[in-house]
Amino acid sequence: MNNSNQFVKNSFLFSLQRPFKTLFLTLKNLLPLMTDINHLEKLVIQVRRDILRQVHKVNSGHPGGSLGCAEFFVALYNELMEHNSNFNMNGKNEDLFFLSNGHISPVFYSVLARSGYFPVEELNTFRLLNSRLQGHPTTHEGLPGVRIASGSLGQGISVAIGAALAKKLNNDNKIIYTLCGDGELQEGQNWEAIMYAAGNKVDNLIVTIDYNGQQIDGATDTVLPLGNLTEKFKSFGWEVLTIKEGNNLQAIIKTMKEAKSKTGKGKPICVLLHTVMGNGVDFMMHTHAWHGKAPNDEQLEKGLAQNPVTLGDY
Ligand SMILES: [Mg+2]
Repeated sequence: MNNSNQFVKNSFLFSLQRPFKTLFLTLKNLLPLMTDINHLEKLVIQVRRDILRQVHKVNSGHPGGSLGCAEFFVALYNELMEHNSNFNMNGKNEDLFFLSNGHISPVFYSVLARSGYFPVEELNTFRLLNSRLQGHPTTHEGLPGVRIASGSLGQGISVAIGAALAKKLNNDNKIIYTLCGDGELQEGQNWEAIMYAAGNKVDNLIVTIDYNGQQIDGATDTVLPLGNLTEKFKSFGWEVLTIKEGNNLQAIIKTMKEAKSKTGKGKPICVLLHTVMGNGVDFMMHTHAWHGKAPNDEQLEKGLAQNPVTLGDY
């Protein structure tokens, strides 16, 4: 082969290498994320099993909203929050989470246990007398991870604002997260809190609304329409983000990270998380019927069959 032909051959090979190299680097960058997502998706399925089994065992509890928020909790405790499973109530130098809609305790307990806060076997004690896992989380049982009693609805945003202000006073630059049901926004005192947070530039706070459009007695639009939440929060001076696919882990992680990047800029942040109540169990989806109703034996088996064991039952 003469020099000219060799040059053409080398140029051709080089031109082939570049796209392969680009593809390789892209795959290399995506691989850790894909691995993590695979693990998190398995965790979501296991959390769904935990929710169904907890509620079924005592024939009591709230599976619908819990299932709808499984992806959010898994993302929050595994990808988003800088937190310490060696629980300390003073909460210094770590991100903190406050659950406002306390009735979705089955998902909260499952994710706390599977994040190392307490033994997963303790999920067996859900709603039993003298258990640390009461139907609505409380603090006096001392369950690691629980920072407020909740279930009296409409309180979480106010508590979260107080914690966010305390962090500012302590020169602690970590973030406060809270989750609030959409139906809770019918409680008037939330709007006082929402006004207060903007007026006092509580910009280390991310409030997520579980925007499933359902509440205990039916659709929020039927019970008491919430109106345009984006415009309402904006008019109160908040930064507002929306997650249309609120049961998609990657969508949640992407937008919640964007929300985090907007902290410290003078405005509190609201994330409208569009979830499906009962997500992952076909006969529980898109209805308020399973808001506070336990599955019977047959329904449990059906729900579990749709979510086969991934990481092991407790
Ligand atoms: Mg709701």
